[in-house]
Amino acid sequence: MCGIIGYIGNKATKNILLEGLKNLEYRGYDSSGVAILGDNIQIVKEVGKIENLKNSIAKQELQGNLGIGHTRWATHGMPTENNSHPHFSNDKKFAIVHNGIIENYLELKEKLQKLGYKFISDTDTEVIVHLYHYYYNGDMIDTLAKVIKDLEGSYAVCVLSEEHKDKFVVAKKDSPLIIGLGEDENFVASDMPAILKYTKNYYLLEDGEMALINKDKVTIYDDNKKIISKEVLYFDFDTDLAEKNGYEHFMLKEIFEQPSCIKKCVSKYIADNDVNFESFSKIEEIIKNTKNIHIVACGSAYHAGMIGKYAIENLARVRVNIDIASEFRYKNPILEKDDVCIIISQSGETADSLSALRLAKENGVKVISIVNVFGSSIARESDFVFYTLAGPEIAVATTKGYSTQVFLLYLFALKLAFIRGAISKDQFNAYISNIKQVENDINESLKLNDKIKDIANKYCHLENAFIVGRGIDYYLSLESSLKLKEISYIHSEAYASGELKHGSIALIDKDSLVIGIITDESLSAKTISNLKEVKARGAKVLVFAKEGIEGLEDVVDDAIFVPSKEEFFMGITGIIPMQLFSYYVAKERGCDIDMPKNLAKSVTVE
Ligand code: GLU
Repeated sequence: MCGIIGYIGNKATKNILLEGLKNLEYRGYDSSGVAILGDNIQIVKEVGKIENLKNSIAKQELQGNLGIGHTRWATHGMPTENNSHPHFSNDKKFAIVHNGIIENYLELKEKLQKLGYKFISDTDTEVIVHLYHYYYNGDMIDTLAKVIKDLEGSYAVCVLSEEHKDKFVVAKKDSPLIIGLGEDENFVASDMPAILKYTKNYYLLEDGEMALINKDKVTIYDDNKKIISKEVLYFDFDTDLAEKNGYEHFMLKEIFEQPSCIKKCVSKYIADNDVNFESFSKIEEIIKNTKNIHIVACGSAYHAGMIGKYAIENLARVRVNIDIASEFRYKNPILEKDDVCIIISQSGETADSLSALRLAKENGVKVISIVNVFGSSIARESDFVFYTLAGPEIAVATTKGYSTQVFLLYLFALKLAFIRGAISKDQFNAYISNIKQVENDINESLKLNDKIKDIANKYCHLENAFIVGRGIDYYLSLESSLKLKEISYIHSEAYASGELKHGSIALIDKDSLVIGIITDESLSAKTISNLKEVKARGAKVLVFAKEGIEGLEDVVDDAIFVPSKEEFFMGITGIIPMQLFSYYVAKERGCDIDMPKNLAKSVTVE
């Protein structure tokens, strides 16, 4: 979590750092700071949003051709000015920013304190700057190599030295860092949106690597300080994907981007009426014979995985175990040879999912990942990657990241079912032609925007919601509930609708909102009965249903009907109304939609 930016070149360093931090703010936003190297190193830090830092910096003369910046998501120590990054060495000759967690910081801190170093923050990070000072021998890379040998945990770290006005150094392990290449200027950043305005060419730094950044040259080293060469990558997305383009929030923009993301996936992954996964042949044999698939993910990606389980089990008849990544790691999972593990992560840096991936591989299990960020750790370490092609997702609450994950899981399930002979060629063709219509279904659902907004305004004052459904609608309820609580702070719980009466119905009263999700026609009568049970206890009932679902008249206070060409694919389309509903509820409640409290986008800590 957290965003790092670094710059060296002839432009106004402070503006580039501020702009970069603004574009990285979704990664962490409890405090921020910059260090700029002019005659000496000057640091400015502020608690809260980047706006506060901007105001503070406006009052200061900050000149220099290189600098580093950080937007923090606190792991060690409160979000105070002292704990914000950059951190100074005691003599103020070095400054660093860090993303990650130093697990052995207490031990290092004690050692450094005994050597006379004074700590002014509660962070784990501060040990890095004192260690750097301790090992410093005039050679910035050699010193950095010594420092990282002592560190356990995860880090993307940038270091400035007062003595070197023409360079800075960086290193990374288990936290992302890219190096943007400009003309007579270079950048480092946690993610591309920070520097997209200036360059689309970049190096992806890998674990254990370090780099020396000059304005006209970037030198990359392996962990033995040997210079290595690297491929220059090109970021193939429009620059405006990192802009709001007239939308009030990134979240709304990203909700409306979903048809075009699905279209991109269709054109990349469906060709000649077949699912066309490049180099799929490499894993086809394993997939064909596997008895167990394990899906492992966190948050919304876990909910996408539940729909994946539903699609794979229904179509391909292969058993799927699904686990939350932080549980999978510690439960001593039963992994058998020929099992396949699917890891899902938007950022591709989710720490728990990455550890789960490593555990699966240690046990000889092949790993397929479904990832949005190109070249991310999970993508690199998997045996096979499907990229979701959603482009940069800036809003903390995922929308297009989630729906493209679900889309790819459906495609995978279809391909799997076909190669295993679980569905006929005719069935396969029919599914493929229908899944191509999903883009259209989403467009139709988005036309419900105004209606959903009105309903959201009607219910936004309620403080408790249950979201219920059966089968796939239960999985949609889980994601809907997460969406609602993470951005509107309304307490909400998802329930399999038949389960409510086994206890939680005790909470239902006239102040409760119960939202029913009904897209599976075969189960609709059962869910409607369950909704009648809560209605009889005074709850307000709102239903999001597939067009054509009947029997809702006597039970609902309000209903929204979503069009669908193919019921089976409602796992993709069915979430759109609840994304909009959550958005408008949060907006009406005055919440900070793109940056909800306590959250950050890419969860790189365990
Ligand atoms: N662990 C560090 C801190 O709490 C870095 C957190 C981050 O990655 O933002 O300051």
